[in-house]
Amino acid sequence: MINIVLFGKPGAGKGTQAEFLKEKYNLTHLSTGDIFRFNIKNETALGMLAKSYMDKGDLVPDEVTINMLQSEVEKNPESAGFLFDGFPRTIAQAEALDAFLTGKGQGITATIALEADDEILVQRLLERGKTSGRADDQDEEKIRNRYQEYNEKTAPLIGFYQAQGKFHAVDGIGTIEEVTKRLSNVIASL
Ligand code: AMP
Repeated sequence: MINIVLFGKPGAGKGTQAEFLKEKYNLTHLSTGDIFRFNIKNETALGMLAKSYMDKGDLVPDEVTINMLQSEVEKNPESAGFLFDGFPRTIAQAEALDAFLTGKGQGITATIALEADDEILVQRLLERGKTSGRADDQDEEKIRNRYQEYNEKTAPLIGFYQAQGKFHAVDGIGTIEEVTKRLSNVIASL
């Protein structure tokens, strides 16, 4: 069983790459952003709560996010492994994930970061916002706030996973195929 955390700033290509990796390695793809958006679309209580944070580009509170993620994992007991996309985003989430997986006799196999320059990513998100319909992709101020959230709360996870010897990084700039190959090379080396 392999459990991979796909790590990177907003717009780095995590969702795009996850689509390929989940097929290739038969993994269950869990994107917390996608699950929140699904709940917003269906007007659930969770969706309404998440929306108030997402619309500003703020992170949704840890407790809400952790509970949601754990229940999604529980829904897939037959899974051969998980591809976590957009989770964990804080140290508290990473610690909760470790404790949760340990309780199941499992753990994170590796965290792989897609690296890219901020300015390239901001432009990518603004471009995506023209078609994605996502409010948080359409306003440069909200996008900048998402980077600030990343720098303050998510970047410390690099040290967290490095200390466990589980952090790997690949260049996220290139064609989709090139980046998939780089990620596959890391997974093959695990
Ligand atoms: P994403 O689709 O991964 O870019 O996530 C979109 C938004 O959903 C983020 O800006 C946050 O508001 C929220 N979100 C997604 N994943 C998390 C998480 N792990 N922790 C807190 N908020 C999250």
